Amino acid sequence: MNKRVLSGMRSSNPRLHIGNYEGALRSWVDMQEEGYDMFCMVADYHALTTMYEDAAQVAVNAREVAKDYVAAGIDPKRSVVFRQSDVTEHAELHLLFSMITPLGWLERVPTYKEKKDDMGGAEREPYGLLGYPVLQTADILLYRPMGVPVGRDQAPHLEIGNDIGTRFNRLYGQEVFTPYRYLIPKDETRAKVPGLDMRKMSKSYDNCIYLSDTEDETAAKIKSAFTTPTKMRKTDPGIPEGCAVCQYLKLYSPQWQTQWEEDRAGERGCMQNKKELTECLNEMLRPMRERRAELDDAAIEAILADGAERAREVASETMRMVKSAMGWPVR
Ligand code: ADP
Repeated sequence: MNKRVLSGMRSSNPRLHIGNYEGALRSWVDMQEEGYDMFCMVADYHALTTMYEDAAQVAVNAREVAKDYVAAGIDPKRSVVFRQSDVTEHAELHLLFSMITPLGWLERVPTYKEKKDDMGGAEREPYGLLGYPVLQTADILLYRPMGVPVGRDQAPHLEIGNDIGTRFNRLYGQEVFTPYRYLIPKDETRAKVPGLDMRKMSKSYDNCIYLSDTEDETAAKIKSAFTTPTKMRKTDPGIPEGCAVCQYLKLYSPQWQTQWEEDRAGERGCMQNKKELTECLNEMLRPMRERRAELDDAAIEAILADGAERAREVASETMRMVKSAMGWPVR
């Protein structure tokens, strides 16, 4: 049975947040423990689509993101931790897929429409932004995985990936790619973790709790988090569904149901929620911070070099299958 799984994060920021963890990384760790063959990619090419002016920073970030993977529990011996740009097959398959992907499919992607407006018009918008899902498809299909664990926001890109794979098979008459599953967390709070301000947690909104924040930073952020606006006093009824602190309690506190009931009934105040949340969140993050502190740049580079070698084995085999299906010379 195919137990290969591919997933990745862009290195557009040096640190991952608890949204990245809940939406994706935590599932990677769980699947690693269940015996899946995890390919954990740091997507540095993808970060360039919006950060091409800061290319050197993207490279620094890539190492930091890889450190977060290992800190969160990815074991580089059992799982493959690698950097996208170290495996040149990603660029090659992206080029071939770009030839067979209709433009209309890409223009319809909702995140493209949003990001395009942010980039400031056609003169500034890079070609790579439109092609983002094509590169992502190459990233995934190179490993011919059974599934791809991601947060809810990635679903539209993943659909295109299976469409491109099917189109390739049909065009060249061979079943090189079998459709993969999208493994989105069933729990809606995990699939889309709210930020401290209750918008989606995202580094671009500056509303994140990072895995590598210190205990004090975490406590200070929770103190400033959005709660039920009409709950001024402890006795005022709260609305846990609209309160960031209650949402995080649901993720991290074993007693969240009681905490929610008491919040709703006006039997507990926001201060108590914040205090209890700070304790459980810091407890969850403590081992990650400890593991991260042990990883220097040389250690992570060694992990990435080993990962690239293992990733290349599968990627080069896929490229041979692709070229053979196309009737091209196979090296
Ligand atoms: P960002 O949204 O901060 O730019 P990325 O686009 O690099 O993060 O996403 C990396 C992974 O983390 C993807 O699988 C994505 O679905 C997941 N993810 C990002 N933000 C969240 C969130 N708030 N809740 C759940 N998953 C998320």
